[in-house]
Amino acid sequence: MPEQIALGQPTTGDAEVEAVRRVLESGWVAGQGPMSREFEAAFAERVNSPHALAVNNCTAGLHLALLSQGVGPGDEVIVADYTYPATAHAVLFCGATPRFADVAPSTALIDPASVESLVTERTVGIMAVDTFGQCADYDELGEIARRSGVFLVEDAACAAGATYHGRPAGHPELADIAAFSLHGRKGITSGEGGVVTTGLADAAAFINKHMCFGVESALARAGSDDLAVPVFDELGFNYKLSDIASAIALVQLGRLDDLLSARRRIAERYAASLGQHDLFTLPTALDDREHPWQSYVLTLDPSVPRGVVARQLREEGIGCNIGTFACHVQPVYGSSDVCPVSADLFARHLAIPMHANLTDGQVDRVAEAVRRAVTSASTAAA
Ligand SMILES: *Cc1c(COP(=O)(O)O)cnc(C)c1O
Repeated sequence: MPEQIALGQPTTGDAEVEAVRRVLESGWVAGQGPMSREFEAAFAERVNSPHALAVNNCTAGLHLALLSQGVGPGDEVIVADYTYPATAHAVLFCGATPRFADVAPSTALIDPASVESLVTERTVGIMAVDTFGQCADYDELGEIARRSGVFLVEDAACAAGATYHGRPAGHPELADIAAFSLHGRKGITSGEGGVVTTGLADAAAFINKHMCFGVESALARAGSDDLAVPVFDELGFNYKLSDIASAIALVQLGRLDDLLSARRRIAERYAASLGQHDLFTLPTALDDREHPWQSYVLTLDPSVPRGVVARQLREEGIGCNIGTFACHVQPVYGSSDVCPVSADLFARHLAIPMHANLTDGQVDRVAEAVRRAVTSASTAAA
């Protein structure tokens, strides 16, 4: 059996274990407790946002972001088509309709021209996605949102540590509200989890209340002298991140810079050792923004049978996968939008191992195996 090289892998150690031990001993393990508040403050500081809220996953954060902007039945929200379907699911959760914007072929980032073409009198908002972590074109998207009088949400699920024109993903000047994921496959993780950031005080207050059933949190009530009985005046959800997960997330946030530099080093080594090839292209990292490399995704030539390459790599113990999903073709949405670039990337993208634990030797072995598998699969197909 060859050594297994995972597609993705968390980086954790004694510090996370110690943090969990401490939070268990503290007695507050549920959400919206002292540890969640500490994590939120640290995350807000990191992305330079006045408000950060720890939620149980990014999808819940996106749902709350849309509800905070009043999204409901009859509304249309323009969504980047090439994304994990969580983005568009959040629109359906609100009873609204996702309209799918196509993406740019080189970066797979939402194409502002496509967004512009989808604006109607029903449009209430735009959801951009930081594809594989790289920030979308926020200057252009913000301009369209302002001109159209609609909100802009950043699906920053993969974007912890990314920057755009020097500002971190989640910064209030990029979008009205951003949602990050702390899922095991992302750059920093608490197993499952998420964080919402916003510069809008009213949205932050709405989200804080609606992630906790629609009432003031238990921690806020704990401060009052008499028996504070909450009043349920609005329908909220239970979308809180537990304090156990927040304790892990806080340690992970402290590792972020180390993890980013490890991933950057691996991306550079991939670029050098994969090199130029007729049958695939390397991912595009734009020079006005910092790519956090949540995934490393190749675009195969249309002549290369991707399934054959994937089988070959997996036989050699090397993890691989599609890039992400074209949403407009997913039956759940019943959409008649057309996004040819997204559909094409959905068929041709191949994600290869990317995580901060990869050694130089493993990166070289993957690069070698990819070159060999792509060449032999396309020869066999010819
Ligand atoms: C992973 C991911 C999500 C979902 O994140 P969860 O924390 O699992 O809800 C949403 N959008 C994108 C772009 C993702 O990659």
